[in-house]
Amino acid sequence: MSVYLDHAATTPLDPSVLDAMWPYLQREYGNPSSLHAAGRHAREAVEEAREQVADALGVSPLEVLFTSGGTEADNLAVKGIAWGARDRGAGNHVVTTAIEHHAVIEAVEWLGAHQGFDVTVVPSEADGVVDAERLLAAVTDQTVLVSMMTANNELGTVQPVEVVGPALADRGVAFHTDAVQAFGRAPLRVREWGIDALALSAHKFNGPKGVGVLVLARDVPCEQVLHGGGQERGVRSGTLNTAGIVGCGAAAALSVKTQDDEIPRLDALGQRLRQGLLAVDGVWVNGSLTRRLPHNVHVGVPGCDGEALLLALDVAGVAASTGSACQSGAAEPSHVLQAIGAPTDTAAHLRFTCGRGTDEDDVDTAIHAFTEAVARLRTAGGGFV
Ligand code: PLP
Repeated sequence: MSVYLDHAATTPLDPSVLDAMWPYLQREYGNPSSLHAAGRHAREAVEEAREQVADALGVSPLEVLFTSGGTEADNLAVKGIAWGARDRGAGNHVVTTAIEHHAVIEAVEWLGAHQGFDVTVVPSEADGVVDAERLLAAVTDQTVLVSMMTANNELGTVQPVEVVGPALADRGVAFHTDAVQAFGRAPLRVREWGIDALALSAHKFNGPKGVGVLVLARDVPCEQVLHGGGQERGVRSGTLNTAGIVGCGAAAALSVKTQDDEIPRLDALGQRLRQGLLAVDGVWVNGSLTRRLPHNVHVGVPGCDGEALLLALDVAGVAASTGSACQSGAAEPSHVLQAIGAPTDTAAHLRFTCGRGTDEDDVDTAIHAFTEAVARLRTAGGGFV
């Protein structure tokens, strides 16, 4: 029996989402930009999905742009808003944090290295949460954009977006947040928190891969990154992925419909898992216990190598992650573990993330497999290479 506890990497497509997508993979193949009936049918489906996403976030459908995923939404927000501001002569400084997903941090660093922007990367505190005051202190009169994620993809730590956003709104600085991990698992108040741009990825909430969302406030100028046919308010060109977009809308609606039950359920599973893993000698939790996503348990395991432990769990039928799966295969400790000063030479660091299909039996199976694998590895010297 296999147990999948890697929902931060990706989630299974919900059957109801697949049902919604089917017609647009076959029968309804029109291009949503075409004026004939086939095109209009596809366009109606896209606009319905746009409304579903807008309703889920409490924004206007006019602010919802579909992209090819979270990576593209982040790149478009970071580069597009920075370029848009510079074109207006508004300033030249971008602020982000040390624990952002690569889609943000590398986009910001590229602006610094190749586009002449000044860049400030604000460190994380040891608990995986960025200090709001420290971040706001980095903002100058030249700052045109701050990008801080809503929740971290490795540690599951929830960032102080509710403090930073309103403070930036007061100072007229554009604020982007990568909410790819937070959506459906934590509150998101786009308006109240002064968020100008927000990225989502459908495959993180039981939708299809290869489709994402950039919520972009209408008064924030954003240069296009992909030039072409001028779709999506002229900000994101490219023929719309109708089936993917329909799936994204259906998955967003499903998240909203179920989250009042699902969040406490995930929280209980997360607590059960945490307690079980902590019962193993020396194991600790990485990241804040109070500001974290309910489904994420991230542990440090002294005396074990991360990859060896991950593979031992895999053999036992349990899927976890050594950090950022978007980066998996990388032998280097992740930039997030480095940012919180985790001891990566002497301990394994494993992320377990529960999801819609996870139940208590899965959690108990994972605890059992973890306990056995750690004991076996430690007896054999930890599996360090
Ligand atoms: N941002 C965060 C926080 C993520 O966790 C991920 C994916 O792991 C992405 C962005 C990238 O999203 P996508 O896989 O849709 O490109």
